[in-house]
Formats: sequence, structure tokens, C-alpha cells
Amino acid sequence: MFCLRSWLSILLLINAAPVYVALFIAGTFALRKPCVYCSILLCVLIFTILDFSGDWFEARWQPTVETVSETLSSLVSGNATIRDAALETASAAVSVINGTSGALASAAVEGVRRRIGGGNASLGTTWSAFEWLRGVTDKVSLRIPCVDVTLRFQLVKIMADRDVLSGDVKPSNYAISLFDLQAGEPWTYQGKCSIDLEVKNSTKSITLNTHELKIHSVEVFSEAGKTASSVKASKTEYDTKNQRCTFSFDQPLPESPKAVLTIAFEGTMNNHMAGFYRSAYKPTVEASKGVAKDGESHYMFSTQFESSDARRAFPCFDEPNLKATFDFEIEIPDDLVALSNMPESETKKSKDGHKVVSFERTPLMSTYLLAWAFGDFEYIEEFTRRKYNGKNLPVRVYTTRGLKEQGRLALESAHQVVDYFSEIFRIDYPLPKIDLLAVHSFSHGAMENWGLITYRTTAVLFDEYASDQKYRNRVVYVVAHELAHQWFGNLVTMDWWNELWLNEGFATWVGWYAVDHLHPDWDVWGQFVTEGMQMAFQLDSLRTSHPIEVPVRNALEVDQIFDHISYLKGSSVIRMLASYLGTDTFLQGVSDYLKAHTYGNATTNDLWSALSKASGQDVATFMDPWIKKIGFPVVTIAEEPGQISVKQTRFLSSGDVKPEEDETVWWIPLNIKTGPDATDAQRNPLTTKEDTYCDIDTSFYKPNANQTGFYRTNLPPQRLIELSKSLDKLSVQDKIGLVGDAKSMAVSGLGTTAAVLSFMEGFASETNYLVWSEVLSSLGIARQIFASDPQVAEGLRNFTLKLVTAATDKVGWEFSQQDDYLTGQSRALLLSTAGLMGHEGVVKEAQRRFQAFVDGDKKAIHPSLRSAVFKISVKNGGEAAYRAVQKEYFTTEAVDGKEITLHSMGQVQSPDLAKDYLTFGFSGKVAIQDIHSVGVSLANNSKVRDTLWEYLKENWPMLREMLGGNMVVLERAMRMCLMHFASFEVLEDVENFFKDKDTTGYDRGLAVATDTIRSNAQYKERDLELVREWLSAHGYMK
Ligand SMILES: [Zn+2]
Repeated sequence: MFCLRSWLSILLLINAAPVYVALFIAGTFALRKPCVYCSILLCVLIFTILDFSGDWFEARWQPTVETVSETLSSLVSGNATIRDAALETASAAVSVINGTSGALASAAVEGVRRRIGGGNASLGTTWSAFEWLRGVTDKVSLRIPCVDVTLRFQLVKIMADRDVLSGDVKPSNYAISLFDLQAGEPWTYQGKCSIDLEVKNSTKSITLNTHELKIHSVEVFSEAGKTASSVKASKTEYDTKNQRCTFSFDQPLPESPKAVLTIAFEGTMNNHMAGFYRSAYKPTVEASKGVAKDGESHYMFSTQFESSDARRAFPCFDEPNLKATFDFEIEIPDDLVALSNMPESETKKSKDGHKVVSFERTPLMSTYLLAWAFGDFEYIEEFTRRKYNGKNLPVRVYTTRGLKEQGRLALESAHQVVDYFSEIFRIDYPLPKIDLLAVHSFSHGAMENWGLITYRTTAVLFDEYASDQKYRNRVVYVVAHELAHQWFGNLVTMDWWNELWLNEGFATWVGWYAVDHLHPDWDVWGQFVTEGMQMAFQLDSLRTSHPIEVPVRNALEVDQIFDHISYLKGSSVIRMLASYLGTDTFLQGVSDYLKAHTYGNATTNDLWSALSKASGQDVATFMDPWIKKIGFPVVTIAEEPGQISVKQTRFLSSGDVKPEEDETVWWIPLNIKTGPDATDAQRNPLTTKEDTYCDIDTSFYKPNANQTGFYRTNLPPQRLIELSKSLDKLSVQDKIGLVGDAKSMAVSGLGTTAAVLSFMEGFASETNYLVWSEVLSSLGIARQIFASDPQVAEGLRNFTLKLVTAATDKVGWEFSQQDDYLTGQSRALLLSTAGLMGHEGVVKEAQRRFQAFVDGDKKAIHPSLRSAVFKISVKNGGEAAYRAVQKEYFTTEAVDGKEITLHSMGQVQSPDLAKDYLTFGFSGKVAIQDIHSVGVSLANNSKVRDTLWEYLKENWPMLREMLGGNMVVLERAMRMCLMHFASFEVLEDVENFFKDKDTTGYDRGLAVATDTIRSNAQYKERDLELVREWLSAHGYMK
């Protein structure tokens, strides 16, 4: 136990102002017998909430963890348990007091303020704060002894930060029945939802979540003691803004372990890709009679509930830790197929030509994981090789009629991955079946609904003969990612949305881990470093980034954090941790964590505890800065004979980090590859701002071996040149890392573009696709930024062309049976780059093949070269080629055909054609889910980038209306279109344009875009002349 008097002594010892001491004494008195947590919170409140000014209240002493530790050690010396607990507690408190725990702490305090309904404190509000805190701590089951101090303390803090439904009632089962579905305008359906509840506190009202639902009637049946009663709600009030609905009753509902809330309601099968929604498609074979039709369009229906759209389909307590079981039934036309999380339990005839399909009860799970779908479906089936409860599990891929064969690749991967995850997590897949469904309209890539995973078509369908090979990689990965969630996310769910990253970061890492297991020849970790990590770095080097773990006050705020920080930085730090602990140890910890929280909810701290136990290391301590602090470090290296000195600072792409933004000390696994065979890796992590590493063979060394650490390295310029001479000692991941780091040093001003270009010249004979991919995308960024200067742009074009020519000529046009996946990808990338940079031979051949293709010879272009050939043809072929690709957009039968043609059309070279393309993009002929591709392809093209921005401004109301039905779509489109600009004028224009607009729902994306433009513009100003000089001195410019 921890004595309260110690706190008082601390306050006295640190010379706290008398007012603080007085308040503390008053507070402890008011709280009667406060526990240790209350007393900590009391200190925090006194120091942080009360906004005093004046001498009396001036803090006389700035506590630091060290000084408080010292004081505490002397107080409690001799008892190790108490000392440790006290130190932990004190550091938590001190970090809050000092305001260094950043967003989380201040938001928590903000949360407290809002709860007590006031800003500046008076005694009255302070009193209510204490009352409220006492209430909260009462509800939390405090576990003594003190080992849990930090954890519990955080629990209290986080609860203060959530705007959640009242805890008066708790759902345990939902019985949902949907009927009278209208297969046409107004696309409504009727529903009945009966929710089994425990009424924990007698109440006169029940509030739950609804969105765009019409409530017809509400009734509660409850059993309290021996009496059973039924009451109808006397009033229903909608809170549209908060997506809640309150049912009031004339009599209080008695406390009861068993009550049933029955709601009759009406909903809409919308076309916003959220809730229960419809997807239009054109069937490729004759459709069943019962399918919904509207002119040429046929419809299928499915759900998308994450993060907070279950409430759009049925009334529910829509929070991830309010887990319940679900019974679901739906009335559909006789000849269609209905699916849900669980297997069908029975089918009954209903009204004319209709049937009611019911499903088995689900396990305990969160509302966002419920799913159903129906339509003109068919399927292919496989079985797992392992046995589950004595049986091989059926795994199916469902599609609308005519497409099922394209599900083979996904099916083949899925059943193997289910077995693989069951083995590495040491927990069997828990449901009796797994279905994968291709959905024609889909806002994200896929959704992990338990037992019924939904995908956009390009993430699950693949045609061996007609698809671009790069989609093979995508399909296998997305299948694995969603399957990983069946354990990590579904079986064990994050307690609240602020820990979304844990779900997504882990599924991303383990998804790639499974792909690596199935396809070791794809070198997916190289791919991860060039695609995933670089993207995460890019976003996280902006001032407007956010810590991985962000406060999410209510579920409505969560959509915007489904971003690269949650997925890609999240998975990058998981990869760093897994590689440091060793993958086997890491997976052992993950398995323990899953087993300990099965069918429940857990937090990041729970995972760290399990990993600490498995590894014998204090995982939380070294991971916390990575999770809770914004940004990441750059490690700057200086060489001395036989040793190097290293220094970590926060990295910003604008290069102007201020001291107050650079206070974090990250735990950094330096992993320096050195020695004659480049095999020794120094594992000692860097845990201070600066340090020296001895025994480094300075004839060759490379920090961050295999790029497993999530940080950039700033090497001395001469070292970069040395390394470019020993590329053979470096792994693919090392090379990618060096290129990426050098490029971003140039962008930030810590290095120069000249150094990067010199370094890149060494890659002309490179053969690896992934290294090429990093080199060319880095060069692409330079071309984009310096595009406004025609001379420099031309010089960079010449440089790129010269760099790729030999490799392009070598790889050639023809695919052979022996080519592996990566060679095919190299071919597509090199031909595309060379052609777009003006390689005469490539342009000619591309145009020849394109003409043959247009004339009807579909074999003239290999499926994986469609993108390259279409782009080169549009760029060089004027309006005729553009129209031909547009025609292909309408007629293509390939599942990836629409995405490929959309990206190609952006190569138009005149503002008129760009406008034409935009008009086409927003004409309703391009699916909402794909419109961002139109914008991005134009944003990538410096010839017409300005036309895009003019169009966006002129047509804003239409655009807002069209994309704003689903904020995910609008946010993505705005961010991706705008972040390619590199001038202060456009920046000002963008800021002015949005100044008086309501940007709720896409403000984060907008901030990312403007911050990126600013850093691009600064980079251009700084380096333009240097680049010109270098290009001219090296003969790339006339
Ligand atoms: Zn995911």
C-alpha cells in the first residue's frame, strides 16, 4: 500500500506553493478515504486543471522524473516493491504534471473539464470534479497490490477521455430480423431488433446509437424478482449529431439481470458504402430472376460497419467493448443467396417468392464485426488441411454470378493462411466457416467481419490470364491481412478506438509475415520497406502528424485515423519490436496475449505485458515513446577512427525542428552492420540523445541493418559515396533504406539533392525490382518538385532516362515462362519509366502494340504491361489515344481494367483534355470508390496539375456533395490530389479556399496536404539552383 502522507511530504519537500498544499489537504479530506489513484489524480488536478496565475500559485519547482525518483527512493528505501510501484506512479504523475505526455494527458484533462461542465475552475467545479472522479474510480475495479498502479491510473485517465453510452444497461444478445426489403426506390427495409439487457441501475431512459433509422416503436420487457412487466417508451428523441437515440419511459425500469428491449424500425439500403448498402454492377452472365435491377444496373447488398456504421443498419450499443452475441435473419427473394458471419441455420418460406434465412448465433463480439449480405451469388470452395473440432473447415469465395473462377487465387491462399495462423497463434480459428465475398462498391480495401470477410473486387479477384501480376501480390496480402484480424481484432478486440493502431499495425505486419511464408521469392520485406515504411515516414515527418495512439473522444472521430500512421507506422514499429525480440519470442507473447483475452477486449499495455513476460524485457518502456509520441528520429552519424558517434533528433521534412518539438528520447536499435563480410550487427540500442559506438570497422558499416528500425539515418556524405561502391555487401532492404534516407535528407535540407543524384548514378546496373522501385519513386518526387523549372525538369528527365536505359533494354518486352514475379514487375516498371521519359524505342514499340490492341488484337499487350503501354500511348498519342483508353474503360472485362485505365488517362498533356477527363470522372460513369484515381493520376502529372486544382475549386459544391456521403472517400481524394503541389502560392490559395468551409471529417487530410505542400515548396527554394548546377556539371543539361 502507498501512504497518502508520502504525497503530502512530497508536496512539502518540493516546496510547493502553500495553495497547492492547502488544496491537497482539502481534497483528501473531501474524498474521505481516497485510494492512491484518487490522490494521484488529485495532484494532477491541482497542478494542471486549475488555471491559476499570480505569485501564490507559481510553481516553484519543476519536477523531473529523476528528482522525484530520488526523493521517493529516500522515502521508501528498503522496500523494493513499494519503491518500484511508487517510482512508476510518480513518473506517470510527473509526466502529466510536466505536460510531456502530450496529447493524451491534455485531452484527458480537457475531458475532465467537459465532464464537469466548465472551463476555469472555481471551488464549485473543483468539487464536482472530485465527485466525478470518485464515481469513476468507484466503477473501476481497483486491484491492489500496487503492481497495477500505472495501468489502473491510465484506465481512469482514458475513461475521462471517452464520450460513451451510459453504463446503466448492458447488452448481451441481439436478435435482428429484417423484412420487406424494397428492391428499388426508396430502398427501405423494415427491422425488428430485440436486445437482451442487464439493467444495472434503475433508469427512466435508455440511450443507444442510431443513424438514419426511423424508430417505429419501443418496448421493454423486464423481470425483476418474481414480477415481470412490459413498458412502452413514451418518448423517442433523436440526437442526429451524436448519432444517438433516447427512449424515455414513464416508470423507471427496475434493476434486473434480464430485460428485453424490442425496437421496430425502418432503415435504408443506401449507396454510400456504409451501413447496409447496395452496390451496382453489370452482370457478365444471365442473372437470377429475383435480383434487384434498375436499367442496366443490377444490385447486390452487403454491410460495412467499421468503425461506427452498425448503427446505420440497426439500433445498437455501437462501441467495441460492448460485446454481445447476435442472431440474424433476413427475408430475401427465393432464388438469391444470403450470407452472414455464421452458417445458415434454417430457411423458411415467407410471402410470395420470398424466403427467410436465419443464421446460427455468433460468438461474443463487437457490433462493428457483424455482417450480412445477399444477392445473386455463387461460390467456389476449399477445405483447410488442418482439422478444427475434428473437421476440415470449409473456406469459400463468393462472387456475383459469373465471376467465381477469379476467386481461385484468394481461395488457395485463404485456406493455407487460416491453417498457418492457427499454428503460429496457437489458437484454432474459432468459427465453423469462413467466407470471402467480392463486393462491387467498397470504400476501403476489405473488411474483416468475423467469418464473412468483404473485399473490393480488385483485392480478392484475380484472373490468371487477364490480370496484371501486381494484383497477385495485392490479393494474397489483403486476404492474409483480413484473416489475421479474425484473431487479432475479432477474438481479442481493442478496448476503444484510440488503440485502432494495434489492430491494424499488427494485422499489417503479420499479413506480410504470412505472405512471406507462402511466397518467399517475393521478398515482401523489401517491398514493405519501399512501400509501407517510406509512406509512413513521409506522413510522420510532417508537423501535422499524430502519435500512433491518439485520443478518440467518440466513435465519429475515428474514421480519419484509419491512416498510414495507424497501419504503416504501426506495423513498422511492430516489425522493429519483433525483430529485436526475435520473431518466435514475439509470436509466443502474442499467443499468450490472445489466450488471456479471448472473446474480450484488451489494451496495448496488455500486449506489452505479455511480450515482456515472454521475452524477459521491459517492452513498455522502450515502446512507449514510439506509440505515444509524435514523429520519429533521424540518427546523425559522425565518424572517428574505429568508432562512430551518433545523435538522435526528431526528423521533420521541413528541416526546422524546434527544441520544444525535440524532447523525446527514442529507444533505437542501431543494428550496425560492419566487419569484412558485413555480418556483424551491433545490437546495443541507443537509449540516450547521443552516444559513441566503438569497434566499428569504418572501412564498411551500415546502420539499421535490413532497415528493421523505424528511423532515418543521416550519414556523412563521403560514407554514402563509399557505400555506393560496395552495394554488393548490402541487402535489398539496406539499399532501399539508403536511397529513401538520402532522399529525405535532401528534402529536409540535412543533405542535398546533388548527393542523392550522385548516389543514384551507382544504381544503373541494378537488377532488383524493389530497389528500382525506390530509386524511381524518389526520382519521381524530385521531378515533381522541380517541374516548374523547364530546364531543370528536362535535366532530371535526361538523368532518369540515362539511368534506366541499360536495364530497360536488358529486360525487354517479352515474358518467358522462367520469369519470376519480381522480374515481371521490373519489366513493367522500367518500360513504363523509360517510355514516359521519352526512350524512343520503347515509345515506338508501345505505340505499335497499342494500335494492334485497339484494332482488336487483345494479346498484343501482356496484362502486366497494360498500364505502361496505356500511359505511354496517352502521353504521346494526343486525344485519339486518350479516347481509345476511355473506350477500354467501358468495355474491359478484366477485374483490374478500370483501375488501370483510370490511372493511364491522367497522362493527358493538355489542360483541355485534363478538363475533359475530370468532367468524365465526375459524370457518374466512374464509381465513387474510384474517383480519387482520376484526381491522383492528374496530380502526378506536372503538365496539368494546376488544371486539377482550378477544377476542384470551380466545382467544389458538386464535388462535396458527390464524395461527402462517405467522409473516407472525400478525405482520401482531397489529400491525395493536393499533396503533390510544391509552391507557396498554391499553398496560400488552398488555405484561403478552405478557410470558410466546414472541413469536419476531412480536416486531418487537408492539414497533411498543406503541410506537405509547404515542405515541398521550401525544398524547391532551397535546392533548385544546386540541382541545376549538378545536372549541368554532369552533362544532363544543355
Ligand atoms: Zn485491417
